Amino acid sequence: MKVTEHLKKADKTLISFEILPPLKGQGVQSIFDAIGPLMEFKPPFIDVTYHREEFIYKNKSGGLLEKQVVRKRPGTVGICAAIMNRYQVDAVPHIICGGFSREETENALIDLDFLGIDNVLVLRGDPIKSEGVFVPEKDGHVYAIDLLEQVRNMNEGNFLDEDLSSSTKTDFCIGVAGYPEKHFEAPNLKTDLKYLKNKVDSGAEYIVTQMFFDNSKYFDFVEMCQKAGIDVPIIPGLKPITSLKQITALPRTFHVNLPEDLVDSLSDCKTNDDARQVGIEWAVQQSRELMERKVPCIHFYTMSRSGPVKKIVEQIY
Ligand code: FAD
Repeated sequence: MKVTEHLKKADKTLISFEILPPLKGQGVQSIFDAIGPLMEFKPPFIDVTYHREEFIYKNKSGGLLEKQVVRKRPGTVGICAAIMNRYQVDAVPHIICGGFSREETENALIDLDFLGIDNVLVLRGDPIKSEGVFVPEKDGHVYAIDLLEQVRNMNEGNFLDEDLSSSTKTDFCIGVAGYPEKHFEAPNLKTDLKYLKNKVDSGAEYIVTQMFFDNSKYFDFVEMCQKAGIDVPIIPGLKPITSLKQITALPRTFHVNLPEDLVDSLSDCKTNDDARQVGIEWAVQQSRELMERKVPCIHFYTMSRSGPVKKIVEQIY
């Protein structure tokens, strides 16, 4: 079932989860261990992220270095199928522009369609570390909207090969990302919203936000979206802080701000356990307020660790 159908059917705020594919070498059991404890909350859907290739340098004899391409977390499509099969829950694979040609994207989407997966979250993907700025694949997409248009074309029965006749239409429900504190490359929030609106006008049916730690950022963002004519559901994304180093790592990695009160409480913590407790309490307060304001769904970034998120959802659901 599509994410939008779940949202329409719901009479209260839904709870969904996002997981990462395991590191290469770990089996599917690690995924089941990561989400099994959360299934008692009956999430309508589970997102599985996609991670593009990275470059590593291996020592060769004679002091030489060899550059190798590795995908550290492969398997998004297979994991989605495994989750759906095991838990009878809808899975939402993340599909990214980075590292894919249009044809590879088309083939991945065909696989998803064959597997009965009818949801995708389409994203551009971040630049790889060694490049600094996002570089599309040869014949790949530059922005999420370009990828979105490819999915929409397939939903209309149009594949890359124009000579294909009687092509079966896919039927993907398409979600996209939104940034209450603006995307880090956007010159300002207004520009970012313009491009977000373009994604919605091109067929995005819902938005999932980047994590935020100050609910007022989300509420302001929703208001600005509405004023800009964006009328699809905007699902807030929450991530509990789980260690002391995240005080600086989260702003650096995800370009989000941490409110002063939260940082003050974390700075008083002596151990990661203390920080985790503060993070859980903060996320509980955020969730309660979001639920009071009747958001359609709260999407938890679990980072494939169920413990903290389970403790939050137990208190709010
Ligand atoms: P876009 O919508 O393409 O926007 C990228 C930037 O370009 C923005 O600054 C935007 O304002 C600007 N822009 C858009 N269109 C145009 C245009 N036509 N002309 C000029 N500028 C334009 N990354 C992963 O690698 N894997 C994942 O699984 C993943 N999951 C995510 C899930 C969520 C909910 C979120 C919020 C992010 C996720 N990301 C993931 C990170 C995401 O890929 C990055 O934030 C990426 O840098 C931007 O992706 P986007 O889809 O928002 O890009």
